[in-house]
Amino acid sequence: MTDMRRMSQAVHVEGAQGVSPVLFLCEHASNHFPGEFGDLGLSGDVRQSHVAWDPHALTIARRLAGGFNAPLVSGGASRLIYDCNRPPEAPDAVPEQSEIYAIPGNQALSEAAREARVEGIYHPFCQAVDDTIAASAPQVIVTIHTFTPVYFNRPRSVEIGILHDSDSRLADAMLARGVGGYDTRRNDPYGPEHGVTHSLRLHAIARGLLNVMIEVRNDLTPDEDRMTRLCRALSLSLSGALADMGITTRGAA
Ligand SMILES: [Zn+2]
Repeated sequence: MTDMRRMSQAVHVEGAQGVSPVLFLCEHASNHFPGEFGDLGLSGDVRQSHVAWDPHALTIARRLAGGFNAPLVSGGASRLIYDCNRPPEAPDAVPEQSEIYAIPGNQALSEAAREARVEGIYHPFCQAVDDTIAASAPQVIVTIHTFTPVYFNRPRSVEIGILHDSDSRLADAMLARGVGGYDTRRNDPYGPEHGVTHSLRLHAIARGLLNVMIEVRNDLTPDEDRMTRLCRALSLSLSGALADMGITTRGAA
């Protein structure tokens, strides 16, 4: 397989011609299992479930990126093959277990097989982010995720999480505005202590860029009307927060 072909499976860049101070990321956009890595011994049900990807996250990210006329870099392979929001040294970059599911194809993985995941999935993703930043010079990075409403059999009441690491500027501004009428909380249901702020640290904080990670409960968008309502509320909160910080965007669509 050529390097270009690998790149095309590992990562997708959309809206690169957009003119915006914002760059959107969506690491867990896909539940594609590229043939060279196989299906990890998982049933179709598990490959469709939230452990393999973030359902609806790519749709939300595309709507927001479209509204802001901004580029979007999204992962092209299941996070069970390699989780692009984790560094190679993190054990859960290639998880042997995800929530209640064992991942057979990740058990006792050889060093060479793990390295092939890093080379085939993680590095192309990071390269695409670097290239897009070089081309579009964003001031802001926003990464879009979704989470399951029931985790380890316990229901979650939080609807939208506004997550940050050491730089909370944009998260603070969004939390001050809120997100529509949604139950919106800081670093909930995940926070930096869970290792989820890798992309923010690597791609944004290291460059001094404003940043936030948005986690949406994946049962909020079961139909077009509710998807539209959610994306409008997120766009208004984000564009308003950026305006509060002196950054003008095309904003909500
Ligand atoms: Zn995610």
